[in-house]
Amino acid sequence: MVKSPVYLDNNSTTPCDPQVVESMLPYFTENYGNSASQTHSFGWVAKEAVDHAREQVARLIGAIPEEVVFTSGATEADNLAIKGVFEAYKMKGNHIITVETEHKAVLDTCRHLEKQGASITYLKVASNGRINLEELEAAICPETVLIAVMYANNETGTLQPVQEISEIARRRRVLFFSDAAQAAGKIDLDVDRDGIDLLALSAHKMYGPKGIGALYVRRRNPRVTLISQMDGGGHERNRRSGTLNVPAIVGFGKACELAGQQIEAEQVRLGLLRNRLETSLIGLGDVYVNGSTMHRLAHVSNLSFNFVRNEVLLTSINKNVAVSSGSACTSASIEPSYVLKALGLEDNLAYSSLRFALGRFTTEEEIDYVVREVSNAVRLLREMNPELAEVMINKEI
Ligand SMILES: *Cc1c(COP(=O)(O)O)cnc(C)c1O
Repeated sequence: MVKSPVYLDNNSTTPCDPQVVESMLPYFTENYGNSASQTHSFGWVAKEAVDHAREQVARLIGAIPEEVVFTSGATEADNLAIKGVFEAYKMKGNHIITVETEHKAVLDTCRHLEKQGASITYLKVASNGRINLEELEAAICPETVLIAVMYANNETGTLQPVQEISEIARRRRVLFFSDAAQAAGKIDLDVDRDGIDLLALSAHKMYGPKGIGALYVRRRNPRVTLISQMDGGGHERNRRSGTLNVPAIVGFGKACELAGQQIEAEQVRLGLLRNRLETSLIGLGDVYVNGSTMHRLAHVSNLSFNFVRNEVLLTSINKNVAVSSGSACTSASIEPSYVLKALGLEDNLAYSSLRFALGRFTTEEEIDYVVREVSNAVRLLREMNPELAEVMINKEI
């Protein structure tokens, strides 16, 4: 028997791995020191734990510990990277290049900087969700200080060509920042091999606790400078002040270690489960995959169920299946996903999408259960759709 609801919303957040929770517990109670207090053993123990976690985070992405700045999550890391570089490189220029399908934490930060005099280029994407490298290169001008392109998209799992992007960035001497909140711990990622200068991470997307993340900041070839966005005690080498959240940092470190050990095996296992889910649902007919099927995270499937409204579909399954529509609800109206619109989806398909994000604890039984639940709901809703009935009649004629 499958325990419902089945959780397939792992791109929104993941459960904490029990081993992560275990690693954190002593740092709430007996080891409660402030890692900045270096006059007694409580502080030393806390600092040692933070140093160890910093090594674990660095190892996952091929960095050195000094390049890791702990933040409250990827949103803050995105803000620190973009605002921090913009302010530090004002002498060079005010131009930033990003992409229409970035996370809101990147897009809204860019919008904010536009009010501070920044000039922003928002690159479009092809129907597979990937940017065009020639358009990127053409957008670079002498004032360009930063290229901000995410590693993998949160709604579709589409991977951007980061190595090709960094090759261009290097040649044109522009810094390259990548939001890797969805990619880190899921695919092999290495800041040196990938040529990344700044990288945003979030613990709760990789089986760690919420409210902790990091910004990787390259120290050599080139050395990246940043203006801090949080001023105070000068923590994190003056880049992010505030008493460190030691238990969360310990858990984040453990989460990185565990993820690093499992990347390859999990990619294979989840890829098979994802394909099992996708093949079955596509079998319903008039079901389409959104984003690239070739360059994609193994655990993500974003599907459009033609002739079914996603919010209706969600209402009919969400007692048993936890997924997301990938559409942002504004207060008054339900807007279709801006990411899917950027892929060029027509409204009817953008309004009929669901995002399935599998995870470490997803089982084959759960996938088969979800296929049954979703298939039944889609068939029923299509039978009830008068518009579809009309289409079918016209087809017969
Ligand atoms: C979740 C997510 C964020 C925000 O991360 P938080 O740690 O929740 O602030 C940023 N970017 C991407 C791509 C994400 O998926």
